[in-house]
Amino acid sequence: MFRSRLLICFLFLFLFSRAQEYEYTYSIFSNSAMSGDYFFSKTSSSGNSSVKNINGKLPVSETLFHTPGNSLELTYENSKTGNWKATIYRQEKRGLDHFAPAAFLSFWIFITTPCELPTVQFMLKDSSLTSTFKINITKRFDWQRVIIPLASIKYPGVTQPEDIIAIVFTQRNKSESEENSIYIDDIEMLPAKKSEKIIELPVINSATGYAKHVDITWDRVTNKNIHLVQIYRSEDGKSYQAVGIQQNYINRFADFTGETGKKYEYRITFLDSQYRHTDLSKPVCASTKPMTDDELLTMVQEACFRYYWEGAELNSGLARENIAGRRNMIATGASGFGIMALIVGTERKFITREESVDRFIKIVNFLEKAETFHGVYPHFMDGTTGKVVTFFGKRDNGADLVETSFLLQGLLAARQYFSREDSREKLIREKITAIWEKAEWDWFRQYPDSKFLYWHWSPDQGWIINHNLIGWNETMVTYLLAIASPTYAVPASMYYSGWANQDSTGQKYRSNWGQTKDGSMYTNGKTYFGIKLDIGVSNGGPLFFTHYSYMAYDPHSITDKYTNYFTNNQNIAKINYQYCVENPKHFKGYGENAWGLTASDGPFDYSADEPVPWGDCGKIAPTGAISSFPYTPEESMKALKNYYYNYGKFLWGEYGFRDAFDLTNNWCSEIYMGLNQAPMVVMIENYRTGLLWKTFMQIPEIQNGLKKLEQESKQIKDQGK
Ligand code: CA
Repeated sequence: MFRSRLLICFLFLFLFSRAQEYEYTYSIFSNSAMSGDYFFSKTSSSGNSSVKNINGKLPVSETLFHTPGNSLELTYENSKTGNWKATIYRQEKRGLDHFAPAAFLSFWIFITTPCELPTVQFMLKDSSLTSTFKINITKRFDWQRVIIPLASIKYPGVTQPEDIIAIVFTQRNKSESEENSIYIDDIEMLPAKKSEKIIELPVINSATGYAKHVDITWDRVTNKNIHLVQIYRSEDGKSYQAVGIQQNYINRFADFTGETGKKYEYRITFLDSQYRHTDLSKPVCASTKPMTDDELLTMVQEACFRYYWEGAELNSGLARENIAGRRNMIATGASGFGIMALIVGTERKFITREESVDRFIKIVNFLEKAETFHGVYPHFMDGTTGKVVTFFGKRDNGADLVETSFLLQGLLAARQYFSREDSREKLIREKITAIWEKAEWDWFRQYPDSKFLYWHWSPDQGWIINHNLIGWNETMVTYLLAIASPTYAVPASMYYSGWANQDSTGQKYRSNWGQTKDGSMYTNGKTYFGIKLDIGVSNGGPLFFTHYSYMAYDPHSITDKYTNYFTNNQNIAKINYQYCVENPKHFKGYGENAWGLTASDGPFDYSADEPVPWGDCGKIAPTGAISSFPYTPEESMKALKNYYYNYGKFLWGEYGFRDAFDLTNNWCSEIYMGLNQAPMVVMIENYRTGLLWKTFMQIPEIQNGLKKLEQESKQIKDQGK
């Protein structure tokens, strides 16, 4: 199920059309997320030649850089008998697949020794190398720019920036040399047209101190000549140091200073693509301060909430798949999760009710007109047009029932939450009801009397993906909503015939994905780490299974023939915790304050990790432990504190925790994911006040659906099945 979701992703990611998407600058290196060695690099040497490295990777310099916080150090010795090589790879990021056309490669170099400079080559997608270019810079102790026109790369097939996947530095001549040290920064491909000088003066709007970081904000940048925003910090109000850069499409910076109870002053400048600075903004002050556990929870909730508030697609007001990633494309399930995060943000007054209502009117107006298939939304839509985007391939060009049920989980919660008798809140309720009532759940049985619901339907290819929904996994809410629908309901018996199917179809499906017979009957019954698991494939699977369907649908209230799902989810979270504490693969950092294997970005790719050796690749996603707050409050709090206080320097950013980290590989994700930020906001809230759970369970149709399920369970028990 989730594996095939990924498979579709991998197989077809390259097939998307070039729509009106935002075009990113093709950047190969700007900063390393981590200190120490740079994950996306590789060094090698032969004979008496050498290149300084840490574990075969280039060292990161945090003292000398062109853009803060760091650059790459290239220290080498040439010899007659050997050679050395250092490769800097571009980091692939999900959804960063539209790039501005470029005319040249530009990078900045700082030379400390009078040295024999290296040559530069480009690596192409097939790992072949272009001809070599010589760097000719003589000035020392200053950052110098090197420009290589792409037209000068005489190599077949190089037509666009993304044809180049790495830049390779090698020894220039077969001659002896002393040790040379150079520093490299800001390797990127830029257009021929030079930017015009920026006259606009930057202004900081706010600076807010938290326990160990300060958030500063400025107005959304509209001037196209602004390439980056650079942030400066001062501790004495006199001397400033450059502490970070921000991309031009984000108007916030989280400066993690690592110290509590300190006062700072901030200024910013705008940089154009030639790295010419504007004057500095006026200074703004803020102090870090000790925070209680309660304040810390609110801080995490508010930061993650901002992904859906400030980071939303502008026209639809809905959630992007990931940031940085596609800018126009919105993801349906993540949007449903985001809607629940907006409700929390409203209740906690991160925004006013008025602002929230404005946003919800924008959302429902967009969704009312957006493309649906038998009333069901696709996985991805263009937020500017409401049309399907085939991000996961040409077959996925129609309805996605699971994503739509995540969206509806959020929308129905919003319908219940905006209960005031004024015309605007009434409008929100009416439009959500119309969206809910047009979803043809029964169509997704594929044929009459089908035992199963099917995940996708395509308008021109029908049931080509043919993926039936079988639990237990993240899709329980799909069956629960299909049974609860007031217009196109499916019989409650499908809960047992489809979701909890126990015939050969269900068994095969589960043992395929779990790579074990454990739980292949839907029921499990085994004990892991001393914890008995009633339901679940393998020993429970990735933690998002316990989050996605239960963000608003209160698992306390779901008891079927086999178990209660709050208890079962809690046991799955405890098994995941115990596995990470035991840490059988000896990954760095795992333990009682860093745990929670789930689906996230990773150093090699996105993957759904789970607490078994074959499903554990060494990365931890903060959403794993933090979204499990209602199940494991103490263990979740320990993880949250560790992630913020000890790892905040790399892990904390403008939208809260970055997606994942892997200390064994010295890697941290540079993206935030729409499916991972909101569960932290919502599940922390369910732990604190039960807001979403209480609100959602008051919905008459949901109560009615639950009643039907209870009757079905009772009937099955009475029949002794
Ligand atoms: Ca840098």
